[in-house]
Amino acid sequence: MTEVLIVGASFAGLTAARELRGRDVLLVDRSPIGAHQTSACALPVSLAEWLGIGDAILHADRRMRLRVGRDTWRVDLPEPFCTVDYEAACRLLAAQGDARFAQVRITGRAAGVAIGADGERLTADHLVDASGWRRVLDPAGPTPGADVRLVTGTEDHVPSAAAPPTPGFDFIFDRAILRAGYAWSFPSGDHARVGVGSFVREPLNPALGTLRERERVGAGTERHGGAISCVPRDPVADGVLFVGDAAGHALPLTLEGIRPAAYFGCAAGRLVRAVLEGGLERPAAEARYAALHAAHLGGYRRLLRAQRWTRRTPDALKRRAVRRWLGPGATAADPPARPFRQLRYLDVLRAERLPALP
Ligand SMILES: Cc1cc2nc3c(=O)[nH]c(=O)nc-3n(C[C@H](O)[C@H](O)[C@H](O)COP(=O)(O)OP(=O)(O)OC[C@H]3O[C@@H](n4cnc5c(N)ncnc54)[C@H](O)[C@@H]3O)c2cc1C
Repeated sequence: MTEVLIVGASFAGLTAARELRGRDVLLVDRSPIGAHQTSACALPVSLAEWLGIGDAILHADRRMRLRVGRDTWRVDLPEPFCTVDYEAACRLLAAQGDARFAQVRITGRAAGVAIGADGERLTADHLVDASGWRRVLDPAGPTPGADVRLVTGTEDHVPSAAAPPTPGFDFIFDRAILRAGYAWSFPSGDHARVGVGSFVREPLNPALGTLRERERVGAGTERHGGAISCVPRDPVADGVLFVGDAAGHALPLTLEGIRPAAYFGCAAGRLVRAVLEGGLERPAAEARYAALHAAHLGGYRRLLRAQRWTRRTPDALKRRAVRRWLGPGATAADPPARPFRQLRYLDVLRAERLPALP
């Protein structure tokens, strides 16, 4: 029997597969590897390098511009972030593992067997669900798109000539665009990734239209998006390890999901490897994985509270809060990066700092 079946060949699944190099791993996805980008693909440069996807970087920058209503803050991040070409990144990551790949759409699981849409029946000693928000191996069945725990985002790829240049990564909180959520524009080489993410179920295409009109953004060449799962869910169920969006690992306030997907993908891969090599009993590995997930729940709760606060707070009060945090804004010269360090936001879930497991 196959040693490990990983469902989902994106950031979480490919990172787990890389950790299992040399073992008998079957990686399945409903699409060819890297075929369907959903994300703006922004992540810390240090993580991109650790993942071995540095050659897929399109743009790297430390600068961030934050706009809340009519006020603007320019901030130097403590470390550079980058955008990557999704397909190239997935291919580079896949090349570092040696899993067999099969294109199969998994519809669910019965008696420990993953069932494919064309009648495939896939079994393995260990199951890893990295299928994103759908969580297709959940014993209770896949998550429907209408699940209230999901948030949504969509974005356009706009040729650089048709998008106003932004000083680094641009974030806009403005209720005239979105009732609850934020808009962004990320420079990405020959194009900008211009999008909106909502914390509640509100129509995204009109919001994107308002953003484009207001910021004088031209037509995009490509539109994509989908749901994001940022409410933590059981990381282990019925012998399956759930990683990345499948376990609700995206970060609730920023909707950053690549960093946690890599972190938990790496941890799951290392723990399964330890079991296969005889260094750890399976129940101990599952408990270690669940404990790692639980250790971060406090942080998720704090970010969910902050997300709820941005949902109900008018822009004027948000501006006041950001002023307290970052200084006067608008006319202020670049404020120091210290406030970001204080939040510890950038320090957590760093796969590159994950200690060797077990
Ligand atoms: C518009 C938008 C912008 C975003 N921007 C950013 C950003 O800039 N930075 C950031 O860090 N995060 C961003 N995110 C969030 C980020 O995309 C996710 O959190 C991240 O991709 C999660 O990785 P994952 O590997 O867990 O899941 P996914 O990337 O969702 O991958 C799941 C994989 O499973 C496969 N799959 C799904 N169903 C099945 C099935 N039934 N059978 C087989 N395979 C299946 C899919 O094809 C896919 O390859 C954004 C999300 C959206 C929607």
